Amino acid sequence: MPAARNPSRSPLFRLITIASSGLGSFILGLWGLKFLLGNQIAGMPSETIGAVIAALCALAASLAAMSFFAGVDESSDYVFNETHFDKLTGLMARPAMVGKIAEAASATARTGKPVFLIDVDIDRFKQINDAIGYCNGDALIRAFTARLKAALPNDVVVGRIGAGEFAILYPDHQVDGHLEALIDRLVNELMQPYPLPSHVQSVNVSVGVAAMPKDGYDPVALLRRSNLALQNARASGIGSWAAFHPDMGKVAEHRQWVESELHVAFERGDFALHYQPQHDMLSGNVVGYEALIRWRHPERGMIPPVEFISVAEETGMIAPIGEWVLRKACTDARLLPEECFVAVNISPVQFMTRDFVGIVAKIVEETGIDPKRLELELTESAMMQDRDRAAEILKQLTGMGISVAVDDFGTGYSNLAYLIDFSFQKLKIDRSFVSRMETDTSSGAVISTIVGLSRALGVRTIAEGVETENQATLLRAAGCQVVQGYLFGRPAPLVLGDAGLVVPADRAANMH
Ligand code: C2E
Ligand code: CA
Ligand code: CA
Repeated sequence: MPAARNPSRSPLFRLITIASSGLGSFILGLWGLKFLLGNQIAGMPSETIGAVIAALCALAASLAAMSFFAGVDESSDYVFNETHFDKLTGLMARPAMVGKIAEAASATARTGKPVFLIDVDIDRFKQINDAIGYCNGDALIRAFTARLKAALPNDVVVGRIGAGEFAILYPDHQVDGHLEALIDRLVNELMQPYPLPSHVQSVNVSVGVAAMPKDGYDPVALLRRSNLALQNARASGIGSWAAFHPDMGKVAEHRQWVESELHVAFERGDFALHYQPQHDMLSGNVVGYEALIRWRHPERGMIPPVEFISVAEETGMIAPIGEWVLRKACTDARLLPEECFVAVNISPVQFMTRDFVGIVAKIVEETGIDPKRLELELTESAMMQDRDRAAEILKQLTGMGISVAVDDFGTGYSNLAYLIDFSFQKLKIDRSFVSRMETDTSSGAVISTIVGLSRALGVRTIAEGVETENQATLLRAAGCQVVQGYLFGRPAPLVLGDAGLVVPADRAANMH
């Protein structure tokens, strides 16, 4: 945040004020002396004249000093208000929060009673703000603040410490029950959709917690620690929270390295696509391939997507990377069997860019792929951010003949009632359900329900992460039409197979 400046109290202004008021009072004094004493002044002893002038100078100087200090006082009030309170929300700004944390820390040191510092951040707020415009962005922050305040007791200290980031100082004795329950409730409330002037906006939040005295007393270090916990929570999925742990420093260091390296890696051509087959349950044939990005670093070897996709999303690198993935997959489709489609993962950040449909259309045209052979995998959270706009984009994609699959279904909102408004062709049941279905009967029931509802909506279902025969049998029984997982083939680069066909490497191996 730039330092606040009071334009009417610049140093030059103060200098001129002091000089002119001093000089003015002196001339006025001399004139007054002459007016009162008239010609008598000529007969006065020089000591008397000197004393009177000295007294007038002192008066002038004190008036000048007063005006100077009044200016300083006013300026410092101005600066205090500018830097201590956030204009948009009226909440305390970061410097004031640092002061409050210091106060809480010294109280903790005296009483030994713990206080929690809770850092709440709206995921990808910058991108949301760019996409919806600043007016809507401001309205969102105000609505978010109102909800945050309403969810907390009145005397709990809350501040806005970043664009979409808030800090809460929560004394232990005010935590009614478990901290875990309190944060779960807070996250749940803050993630309910926000009606804005132009549309309904959904956001995801991540939360990090540091505790005094356990994590120290230094306010700046405490803020860094609660933020480290927050970064960790964010990496583990939507609406997560985490408490600070000393090991988190290493994770942050790695993220920093990834951030500094991504651009070079992209320019150097470190990225490649691997393809994983999707099998039709009924015919047993491969019907499509999911493209999955791989980063092979010349020194550090393979870096998995979970370690760099979220960094790319935060830094904006996802735009060029995502475009490259789409173009490469559409080009590779020419090498894949003609009856197969290629499925491409689309990040929510890519989906929100203004001209997403235009970029897709351009790539389809340039690569000459039949749009019917292209499937885009989108998560529910990407669609829920701005529902009206998402519905419009999906309609346009469907109109172009491109198919859309809802990825990771079951991990986000999982609300088919919302999804009814969207035009999509496939639901992809998340791996977490598949991996639990053998041991947990409720997962099986959830899968059957999803398949039933998909049928009612007229869309197909695909299950991901199928690793065992038993899972495949259960999925078949549930009515799931397409499956994907290590049981059928791991993601692999394209190589030339026996029949002269280009297929993912592991299938080529199976052909021998
Ligand atoms: P996803 O879209 O859910 O992709 C499926 C992930 O599960 C892949 O991990 C895949 O290798 C893995 N997988 C497939 N079958 C099995 C199985 O039977 N068992 C287990 N345990 N895992 C299986 P991967 O390639 O590490 O990708 C992770 C995530 O990174 C993807 O999850 C996707 O969200 C993201 N991602 C990958 N490539 C791209 C991309 O090109 N663009 C974007 N935006 N995201 C990508
Ligand atoms: Ca996927
Ligand atoms: Ca998934």
